[in-house]
Amino acid sequence: MRFDPRKGMLRDRYGRVARDVRVSLTDRCNLRCAYCMPAEGLEWLPTENTLTDEEILRLIRISLDLLGVEEIRFTGGEPLLRRSLESIAASCKEMRTHLGTTPSMAITTNGLGLDKRAKGLVEAGITRANISLDSLNKERYAQIARRDRLPDALRGIEAASDVGMSPIKINAVAMKGINEDEVGDLLAFCLDHGYHLRFIEQMPLGPAHGWRRDQLLTQEDILTRLSERFELTPSSEPRGAAPAELWDVVESDDHPAGDVGVIASVTNPFCDACDRTRLTADGQLRTCLFADKETDLRTPMRDGATDEEIAEIWIGATFEKQAGHGMSRPDFKAPERTMSRIGG
Ligand code: SAM
Ligand code: SF4
Repeated sequence: MRFDPRKGMLRDRYGRVARDVRVSLTDRCNLRCAYCMPAEGLEWLPTENTLTDEEILRLIRISLDLLGVEEIRFTGGEPLLRRSLESIAASCKEMRTHLGTTPSMAITTNGLGLDKRAKGLVEAGITRANISLDSLNKERYAQIARRDRLPDALRGIEAASDVGMSPIKINAVAMKGINEDEVGDLLAFCLDHGYHLRFIEQMPLGPAHGWRRDQLLTQEDILTRLSERFELTPSSEPRGAAPAELWDVVESDDHPAGDVGVIASVTNPFCDACDRTRLTADGQLRTCLFADKETDLRTPMRDGATDEEIAEIWIGATFEKQAGHGMSRPDFKAPERTMSRIGG
């Protein structure tokens, strides 16, 4: 089998083509963010079920060689907890997309320990980073993440910037009554440092019963708050498959110009433009964050399937990708896996 760019191998029945593979390197994490994980009691995946480096690299190579994927994002759990991250990335850097280019590589991380790893990651080809930061207040950060690690996260962000990772996007889950009064301070911080802030509406992907729609801080709420302090104009940048809707922030005496985005997964979903395909740390293919079905790639791979056979399974599952997350439907059921086990 050879990838045929005219067909777009990872095409679903709605015509969307997946070009971006999100690879969860581990379900483990050193934080316990309240919207993502329960305070305690979530067992880690058994080691024998998690993919080895070789298995991860094989699936990535299949996605690039046979399926038209062009971008790789490493995530988790916390991807920096996988010690072989740099060597996995370095191997990916040697691979080529169907366009003959080096795959573009990015990481989504909470930033803990990034100060020691950033240089090596860039050398291995990971040049873009999304770093999560929900609060600049030490106590509040500790309350949300259930760990007192704000200084470590800030050190990680600074180090990523120092080694030239670009762009640096800061992900902040905006929550009513928790950090909503801080949306302006987070934006000011990002503008001052040249980071690109992306607020995320909280999704029902955390511990069971932890999400209520009437408790949601919506895109509209966020923009209303920001507009009290900043002059925002809709961005002219084409959105493409990016999940965030963007606004330019006009320069003022208090801050330089920049941008801000909102990923309004709940109130203004971007499912129509979705170009993602996801691999969990235990080798399950998920075509959507909210999929209620997963496709096992680990078992066929361990049973000796050829690259072409694995690619066929991937293609078949992608065709069945659901149209959208269906959060507004009365029969909506949140996935059983928490976000930490899916890979955000
Ligand atoms: N540990 C890394 C981190 O925190 O960036 C990577 C994995 S984390 C699951 C990826 C992203 O998902 C983070 O930006 C996090 O804030 C976001 N996230 C987790 N649970 C979420 C939820 N219930 N709703 C919205 N975003 C969520
Ligand atoms: Fe860990 Fe990221 Fe989930 Fe927070 S959001 S608990 S850092 S995986």
